[in-house]
Amino acid sequence: MGLVGRFAPSPTGDLHYGSLVAAVGSWLDAKSSPDGRWLLRIDDLDTARVRADSEASILATLKACGFDWPCPIWRQSTRLQRYHESLERLRQRIPLFRCQCSRRQLAAEGEACCVGRCRQLPCDPRDSALRADLSGLDPMLIFDRSLGEVRFDPARHSDVIVCRRDGVFAYQFAVVIDDADQGVTDVVRGADLLDSTAWQLGLSQALGLPAPRYMHLPVVVEADGQKLAKSRHSVCVRDGHVAGHRVASERIATQLRRVLQDLGQRALPAGIHDPREILQIAATVWQPERFKGKREIRLPPQA
Ligand code: GLU
Repeated sequence: MGLVGRFAPSPTGDLHYGSLVAAVGSWLDAKSSPDGRWLLRIDDLDTARVRADSEASILATLKACGFDWPCPIWRQSTRLQRYHESLERLRQRIPLFRCQCSRRQLAAEGEACCVGRCRQLPCDPRDSALRADLSGLDPMLIFDRSLGEVRFDPARHSDVIVCRRDGVFAYQFAVVIDDADQGVTDVVRGADLLDSTAWQLGLSQALGLPAPRYMHLPVVVEADGQKLAKSRHSVCVRDGHVAGHRVASERIATQLRRVLQDLGQRALPAGIHDPREILQIAATVWQPERFKGKREIRLPPQA
């Protein structure tokens, strides 16, 4: 069996350059392996942030960029029953407790979790998150395919939210179940999610699920190291469509070449404008070791 990779965008806006890097990285990694498969999953649990038109826009952009996904798309919103069952399994294995602390409150107190407080208190289930106590786990040493050995201190990560105060299953919890159910062997995503890896490994260990391998890609940031500006939140394919197909392909081809360059990949021969062809050629020469240890991609300053 070949490698199974996935791309799991949240439909909360258009596909931005950072997500395109994750899509390209995970696609090339899967497709460069014999019989490798690339799955597409829509992480649409966060109903407050999901935008109705966003999934269609992301899929159209991915198609225009030459991606294909022969397997059916999974949507987290259709898997609630599975998460409920898994929650019951988790409850039998590790302590779960209700917690009313906000992130801001914990940060102000310098705590990563509410050790010894909410665990003892009965919190109102209608107005509290459900947390899992992972403090019984051994310290974790993870081998990330790009960043090498990463140490995680369970004390810093002990009380992960599995179900939010508003009743929505937490991303950290759902992603672990989905990746296992989809048979994902390799999670390739931005290094902004590196910290989540500890929680996810902890939860998969607690649930007795197989853990995938991880490769965290450099995060796209502004020239000054700040988070990507909102004004740069869309990969530009639409203007190109208006101007005609060829122009669109060239524009997309330029973006794909930029991603490949930012990931340190070898330059492809000039004169190829078909996005599909670019991806396919890039998969034959994919070398993840060329961005090994790189944590950031800094964009040039906006004109
Ligand atoms: N849905 C998450 C996001 O868009 C990514 C999930 C993952 O790759 O683990 O940030």
